[in-house]
Parts: sequence; C-alpha cells; structure tokens
Amino acid sequence: MARIVMKFGGTSVGDLDRIRRVARLVASEAKQGNEVAVVVSAMSGETNRLVAMADDLSADSKLGGSIDDEYDAIVASGEQVTTGLLAIALRRLGITARSWQGWQLPLTTDGAHAVARIADINTDEISPSLSDGTVGVVAGFQGISPTGRIATLGRGGSDTSAVALAVALKADRCDIYTDVDGIYTTDPRIVPEARRLNRIAFEEMLELASLGAKVLQTRSVELAMNNNLPIRVLTSFTEDASENPGTLVCHEDETMEERVVSGVAYSRDEARITLMRLSDEPGIVARVCRAMAEANIIVDMIVQGRSAKKDVANLTFTVGKRDLDKAITALNNSREMIGFEGLKHDGNVCKVSIVGIGMRSHTGVAQTMFEALAERNINVQVIATSEIKISVLIDAEYTELAVRALHNAFNLAEAS
Ligand code: ASP
Ligand code: MG
Repeated sequence: MARIVMKFGGTSVGDLDRIRRVARLVASEAKQGNEVAVVVSAMSGETNRLVAMADDLSADSKLGGSIDDEYDAIVASGEQVTTGLLAIALRRLGITARSWQGWQLPLTTDGAHAVARIADINTDEISPSLSDGTVGVVAGFQGISPTGRIATLGRGGSDTSAVALAVALKADRCDIYTDVDGIYTTDPRIVPEARRLNRIAFEEMLELASLGAKVLQTRSVELAMNNNLPIRVLTSFTEDASENPGTLVCHEDETMEERVVSGVAYSRDEARITLMRLSDEPGIVARVCRAMAEANIIVDMIVQGRSAKKDVANLTFTVGKRDLDKAITALNNSREMIGFEGLKHDGNVCKVSIVGIGMRSHTGVAQTMFEALAERNINVQVIATSEIKISVLIDAEYTELAVRALHNAFNLAEAS
C-alpha cells in the first residue's frame, strides 16, 4: 500500500466523459489499497475564460488600484467546480471521496495575489481522512492568504499544488497526468520524430520548464528537486497502465550521463532591446538593470559589444515580450541616468536552447550547435550559457528550422 498524489490538468478534466475516465484511473489506484489524494485543475479553457472576464472589467476602471485580490476570487472558482465534479464521479464508482478547497485544508500562501507562493499546507484533517480510505479531491492553484483572502499560485500553479501536497503528505509518489504521455526531446508538433524520455534529471527539467516547455510549472520542479520527490509525467488518455510508462523526473543517475543533450526547447515570449552608444565605463550595465528592476522587469540574456567609436559600447538584452512596452518606457525615462543615444527593439525573436547534464563533461557541444545553425544560415543574435544549457536568440521566422536542425545534430530521435 502506498500514499499517492495524482494530479490532472485542464484537458484531462475538460468534459464530463474525461472526468469519468479520470475517476476510473483514481478508483483503480484506490481499489489497490492505496491512499489517494487527487489535485485537479480547472476544466480546459475555463481559467482563460475567467481571466478574460476579470481583465475586461478591470480595464473599465479609471480609478486604478489593485484588483488582484478579486482576480483571485474569480479565477480560483474553476478548480472548485472540478473538485466537486470528480468527487461525484468517484462516488458513482463506489469510492468514498470528498472535495477540499485550498482554504479548507488550509493551504496558506504568502501575501501576494495572482502569483502567490505556498507558505504551508496543513494536513491535520486530510491526512487521517486519506488513511480512513476517503479519496481527497483537492483544488489546485489556490490557497488562502494570511489575511484570509483567496489567493492563486500563478498560471500552471496546480502542478505546484500537487508537488507541495505530495511533500506535505509524505507521499510515496506524485503522478502528474496530462495530455501528453511524457517529456519529449522537443516539441513533437515541430519535430515528429521527437522521442519520449524515460527519465530526465530535475536540473534538466527545470531548464526545459523555464525555457518554454510548458508541461510542468517551473516552481513545481524546484519544489520536487529540493525535496527529492520524483515526479512521474504521464497521460490521462489511456486507462492501460502498461502502455503508459511516462517520464520520471528525478535525480540524475548514470544512465542519463551517456546522453549529452536531452532536449531542445524554444520560447517565442522574448523581445530584444539594444541600447546604442553608451559610454563604456564601469556601472552602465548596473544602471540598465536597475531601471529594469525598478519597473519589475526580468532581464534574461545580456551582451555588451564595443562600438566602432572609442569608449562607446552597445548593450543588447532580452526581456519578456509582454514587458517590452513597459521596458521601453522605463528606459526612455531613465535615458539621462543611463546615458544612451539610441534604442532599438525587436519583438520578433525566438530563444532556442539545448539542455543536458552531459554538457558538464563533454566538449564540442557548442561547436556542434553553432555549426548546425550556420549550415542553415541562421544568424545568432545573442548567446547565453549555463553549465547544462546553451541558448541562442534568433529571428522568430527560423524557429522551426533551428529546432529541427538541433534535434538532428544531437541525434535526439535515437534512443541513447
Ligand atoms: N487552472 C490554472 C491555469 O490554467 C492552474 C493550472 O491549471 O495549473 O493556469
Ligand atoms: Mg499545466
């Protein structure tokens, strides 16, 4: 007998038939004598619908002021609905089940709204209830703030709810059911030969998640890594467990080291800004970063280049595409303080990255990557590296070409 947390994303609970199928998957674990807590997302499209309504009304307001607390009250409702529906579907299968909202556990958060972080999960009530054989159906994405208000954990936050609950409940397993059957070497919509990985290291998954592979919320991977809780990613679309091995996200092991690169990720959410003719002196990058930090904008890739003129430099960096307008305004407002002469920007760029823990111990990875891009005549605008990743910024038009070229160059279609 084991204690299991099963998490189902929006498409897995997208309609009543899918909820019935989820109920059968949960029932099968419960009937084997396992203690089961289920974490659910809102039905697919529902959170977007709720966000759009909240945004629509907020835009009407000329008064300004924060509305994030009420935004949370609205968007958290999607998960409440699915908990009730799944609990009913389970009861119809003869399984004892009940729903739990975030505030009922309670799952407490920090003071933030819309992007709250989990402070604590109280398991005093749910834990004995699970031990008594009641399946707990928990609303993902939501909790209660220190002042007693509903709070949500940021888009994709149900993954984090599930991992945090699994840690708090000292679960033996955390299974994340989704609409794909595991983590792939790259996006199969771009490369049909992309392969499901049997295992992937936490560090690799963390890079892939933050680089735009949207299967798991980044925060959930961090949490699993810090608590050494392996996560299994698998599909809810089959009820035959033998056909559904999924991908295990876990600590690296020897079998993984044979692989140099594990995956190719891409993100179209970037924008590039170049500041021209800055004076080349200590402190200019700090001043630019300060202007961005004060505007709450995250700067990602940075490269400083000499300009043809002596003592003058150009600085290129990337920000999230959504922040581009805000960044330009902030930079223009700080123009005197920073001291640049010109500003260029481009929202039509894409960041393509290769990720693999094998890069730590293998040489020639960068060479293979840049040769593959050069052969296709793809110009690299900015480069960023870490111990297990190389990212390049390219013209968005070449995204598919670059992803395919890199997948091919590192033979990712072949099992290692
Ligand atoms: N329903 C929320 C969202 O769409 C949370 C989640 O599904 O993880 O972002
Ligand atoms: Mg998700």
